Formats: sequence, C-alpha cells, structure tokens
Amino acid sequence: MSAQIINGKEIAAQIKIELKQEIEKLKGSGITPGLATVLVGDDPASAAYVRMKGKMCEKLGIHNESIKLSSDISEEKLLSIINDLANDLKINGILVQLPLPEHISEQNIIKSIPLHKDVDGFHPHTWGKMMTGEDTFLPCTPAGIQEMLIRSGNNPEKKHVVIAGRSKIVGLPLANILIKKEPGANATVTVCHTGTQNMSQITKQADILIAAIGRPEVITADVVNENAVVIDVGVNRVEAPETERGYRLVGDVHFETVSQKVKAISPVPGGVGPMTIIMLMKNTVKAAKLTT
Ligand code: NAP
Repeated sequence: MSAQIINGKEIAAQIKIELKQEIEKLKGSGITPGLATVLVGDDPASAAYVRMKGKMCEKLGIHNESIKLSSDISEEKLLSIINDLANDLKINGILVQLPLPEHISEQNIIKSIPLHKDVDGFHPHTWGKMMTGEDTFLPCTPAGIQEMLIRSGNNPEKKHVVIAGRSKIVGLPLANILIKKEPGANATVTVCHTGTQNMSQITKQADILIAAIGRPEVITADVVNENAVVIDVGVNRVEAPETERGYRLVGDVHFETVSQKVKAISPVPGGVGPMTIIMLMKNTVKAAKLTT
C-alpha cells in the first residue's frame, strides 16, 4: 500500500487564496503589507530562498523590498540598515536570511529587529511569548508543519510525535508548539538528537515522525512503523552529475522506500518548503494588521 502524500505545495496554495482575501481587505482600508528581506553574501541556497519569498510577495500583492549586501559588510552597518527598516512605515516585517557571515553576531542582528516586525519569530522575546502562550509570531517552519498536519487530516492532538533534531529554527520551537494544551497540538512529544541512544527504537514508536536533522535520506523504512505519518523537513544537496545543475535535492527521509511502508509522508521538494514561505507571508499580514 502506498502512502498518502502530504502535498505542501497544494496546502500552501489553499492558504494563499485565504491570504489574498485578507490582503485585499487590508488594502481596502489603506494598508499594504510590506516585507523587507535582507540577504548578506552570495550563498546560492540563501539567494534562492530570498528569491522565492520575493516572488510569493509579488503574487500576493505584498510590498517587498529585497536588500542584497556584500558578505564583508560590518555588523554596525547591518544594524543601521535594520534600524532604517524598523522605522520604515512601508515595512511591516523584517527577515534577515540566515546564516550570516561569521564576523556578524546573529543574535545581535536578531535582537535588533523590533518585536512587532519579527515575522521570522526568532527574537528571544518572541520566543518567550511563544513559550508562555502569548499571541506572537510563530517561527515559520514549525508553524508550517503544524498547519500541514492539521490540513492534511493528520491532527497531532493526542498523538505521539517524535521530532528528530532540536535546532532553534525547527525542532525546539516545534516541540514547544505541539505540546501546547490547545487544539491542533496537545501531542506527546519526544525530541531526538545526536545524544539520543537507540534512536530507531524511539522513531518506531512515533505516530508522527518529523525529520529535521539535515542528513540525506538517513530515515529508512526499518526505523518507522507502518501507521506513521512522516514529515520530512530536510533539504540536502546530493551530487547528481547527470543533471544540468549537478545536484539534486533530497530530504532526510529515504522517500522511495519509506513511502511504500507508512500511512502518510511529505515529499522533498514540495513538502515543508512551500509551507515555510506561506507562513512567512501569513506572519507579514499579521504584522500589517497590528498597524490597524
Ligand atoms: P541543524 O541546525 O543542523 O540541526 C540539526 C539537528 O539534527 C541537531 O539538533 C542535531 O543534533 C540533529 N542531528 C544531526 N544528525 C543527527 C543524527 N544522525 N541523529 C539524530 N539527530 C541528529 O539543522 P536545521 O537548521 O534544523 O535544519 C535541518 C534540516 O532541515 C536541514 O536539511 C535544513 O536544510 C532543513 N530545513 C528546511 C526548511 C524548509 O523550509 N524546508 C527550513 C529549515 C530547515 P545536535 O543538536 O545534538 O547536534
């Protein structure tokens, strides 16, 4: 039996229709949501992410300013650019694409974004609000994963969710979101990482397994159970000399074999990626509404 494919692209397209209506309503009252994206350096993957975010803004009618900076920019200069964006009334959300060059402190940059424009949800005060259950911007990838589970009919409520990976952008905030005592969450969450022993014993117990480790195709069919819903967050480049660009993108899950075994699975690409982008748009609209 082959699995239900959780199509992030399709779910994101539904959310796009809903957002478009909200944006039109906002425009009717004189507000155009605005997002500034800041890219430092010329990492091709980061540049591609920023481009996709800009394109989605265009499709939705969100004002977008894309600021590209040289990798040798000083931290001081970057802080001053963010300060300008913080004071710019056309801009509701500020996204600084990570990672930043080593000579710049990511924490200093993240902390310089005003809370009401923190659409990536990485500011420590935004985190504090998320942890204490106050209304705030949820980080886009974890929020997108929760949304795709709910909208695909795989609500995490009362399920055992196993998350592989505890990074600050995916695993850790996702665990916090899914253990909340509220609809669409209320799950029992186990988080695995490099210090976890016998990880496969734990992953096999998952009703929902979320792989966010950044290792190509390491989640294989023998470490999942047949009733599992598998969400693959990983985006890994593997060499593929036969292709024009010389590489292909794969997830952390070995899709070909795991999809033959489990109940449901999200693909890479076309799974979590589009959800992350649409949740950024959703946060930008939420930020614009704060100005009304
Ligand atoms: P990260 O910061 O490198 O964190 C990886 C996490 O996985 C760490 O907690 C690490 O454990 C754990 N880990 C690594 N190898 C492991 C193993 N063999 N067994 C168990 N745990 C292991 O990565 P990230 O930023 O969270 O990203 C993870 C993946 O998701 C990457 O492929 C990234 O490109 C992708 N991603 C995709 C999106 C999207 O929108 N589609 C968004 C964000 C990230 P330790 O903490 O012990 O080191």
